[in-house]
Amino acid sequence: MLPFLQGSFGNPSGQHAQARVAKTAIEEAREQVAAALGAKPAEIIFTGGGTEADNLAIKGAARSARDRGFGDGVVTTAVEHHAVLHSCERLGRDGFRVAKVGVDGNGVLDLDALAAALDERTTVVSVMLANNEVGTVQPLSAVAGVLAERSPRAVLHTDAVQAAAWLDVAAAAADAALIAVSAHKFGGPKGVGALVVRQGAKLVPVIDGGGQERDLRSGTHNVAGIVGMAAALTATVAHRAEEAARVAALRDRLADGIAAGLPDGAVRTNGDPATKLVNNCHVAFPGVEAEALLLLLDRDGVCASAGSSCASGALEPSHVLAAMGLPVELARSSVRLTLGWPSTEAEVDEAVAVITAGVDRLAGRARRVSTG
Ligand code: PLP
Repeated sequence: MLPFLQGSFGNPSGQHAQARVAKTAIEEAREQVAAALGAKPAEIIFTGGGTEADNLAIKGAARSARDRGFGDGVVTTAVEHHAVLHSCERLGRDGFRVAKVGVDGNGVLDLDALAAALDERTTVVSVMLANNEVGTVQPLSAVAGVLAERSPRAVLHTDAVQAAAWLDVAAAAADAALIAVSAHKFGGPKGVGALVVRQGAKLVPVIDGGGQERDLRSGTHNVAGIVGMAAALTATVAHRAEEAARVAALRDRLADGIAAGLPDGAVRTNGDPATKLVNNCHVAFPGVEAEALLLLLDRDGVCASAGSSCASGALEPSHVLAAMGLPVELARSSVRLTLGWPSTEAEVDEAVAVITAGVDRLAGRARRVSTG
């Protein structure tokens, strides 16, 4: 990224030598991002992040289909990120029919309910690959099967923002026509992302202007950001298998350590144990206010969140946990602990000690004093 922050200031849309340097960097980044996501370079649209990619996918596909007289139905799930849910709700206010399909207690989409929500006038179906709160991975190829049967003209969009660091998106989202990713979830810079728009999928732009990105996302490119995203994604793909195994072991050490450090029944896990992202440890401590626990954890250097951390500072009960049928008291007792590449065993052990002490304190339990 540094050359494009420190002196190579060409605009890739220009005609001169400096512009060509930037243009070449963008096109190399496009090839790298395409290879990592199982797409062709011409199918990559660079955006200003995951939220923008989701907006472009959903609003763009729904409006294009309506303009072409195809239909007015938009279907999503109850556990999506607000970038998806609020985009769908906006379309609802603009006259589209919007349905939100429910999930089971682990956060897995109900395929029968999905089939029931689809019809021949459905235009877009948006199902996330992995949930950003509880880490549950959705059965995307089964979703595509239901779509092919019930709504063959609809396009499938997947928000793969949370999945890209840990799952092979090229394989897992092979059936999706539209795939959103965001660089800061896999070690890249914030404020840059991409949308895969497979050949044949038709969108109208959300941002109009100079016609960059095949007219689908106007605006001067964030050259340094795009180059950084491509480098981060390439490194992610190269090391994903070994990093996922290492982080899964750390996550289990964290979850097991917390369970071992607390009395029976003092902690329960949220999310689908069978598919959960390897870096996700989402737990409820019955009887303990998550908000109060987060303050104790923060004081002792453990950064965690309750609800969705993207809705900055908001500690409303999570719509994801509500959709999973978690009673509101348990939702208010739930925290999301996540790990990443920099996480170490020593940090996990320290976190276990801080978390179990905080939970015991808030639950009014005496601590066993170590004499060692
Ligand atoms: N979708 C999911 C699943 C997310 O987790 C996030 C951010 O956390 C987004 C979309 C939004 O991405 P961005 O922060 O790049 O706008």
